[in-house]
Amino acid sequence: MKLSIDPIISAKNFFLDLFFPIRCLSCRKNHPSADGPKHYLCETCFLKIKFKIQPECAFCSARTINGRTCPFCLPQHYLNFLWAAADYQEPTIKKILWAFKYQFIKDLAKPLVRLLSVYLRHKKMDKFMETYRREILVIPVPLHFRRLNWRSYNQSELLARELCSEFGLNMQSDTLLRLKHHKPQAELGDKQERIKNAKNIFYCRQPDKIKNKTIILVDDISTTGSTLDECAKILKQSGAEKVIGLVVAKG
Ligand SMILES: [Zn+2]
Ligand SMILES: [Zn+2]
Repeated sequence: MKLSIDPIISAKNFFLDLFFPIRCLSCRKNHPSADGPKHYLCETCFLKIKFKIQPECAFCSARTINGRTCPFCLPQHYLNFLWAAADYQEPTIKKILWAFKYQFIKDLAKPLVRLLSVYLRHKKMDKFMETYRREILVIPVPLHFRRLNWRSYNQSELLARELCSEFGLNMQSDTLLRLKHHKPQAELGDKQERIKNAKNIFYCRQPDKIKNKTIILVDDISTTGSTLDECAKILKQSGAEKVIGLVVAKG
């Protein structure tokens, strides 16, 4: 069966490459030797991406150790940490995240998680994840089902899934639900509008699964921190001990 299908797929890929060559989204060059996701982001461009060296508080951007929420913001917020691999102003990251979300290129989950993995290992967070593997649960920021139907996939869930297989962690993607379909945060300009937009839109339907867990909440971008914080609020009210936001980029 496999023998008869593979040549058909390679012939199809050969003609697709010939007529619609996939170029690196960053340098626009075609890399014929690259396979799969490397088509979209070549090795040279991947290696040029600048990591976010200095961790910050998710809400006021003050420099903090390991992205901990600073003591001034903590009393009004729920998220304990924000781990952000890069800055959203990094040009390659901006292009890749946009294509991942709006050009429906699911394959980009792989280079994005590779980026997250390099960042996490550099910050020695892999050791933390290894030590507390049993207490950690990875949860992607959910989409409303109408949005999910429209896009056919949740980009945060793809990232979370890849991340779990990279670090051997457990994922729960049906525990946290998004109840309302609000405007995507990216379409709102004003900071206050974004914060209001994210209020009271999440729900936890299996609190027993997250009780006393350390949650790694995965999303592609964090701007005001309000979406992650709303999720963290529900998760903590449902019994989670600690919530860490993990995003590719901070805006
Ligand atoms: Zn390139
Ligand atoms: Zn702060």
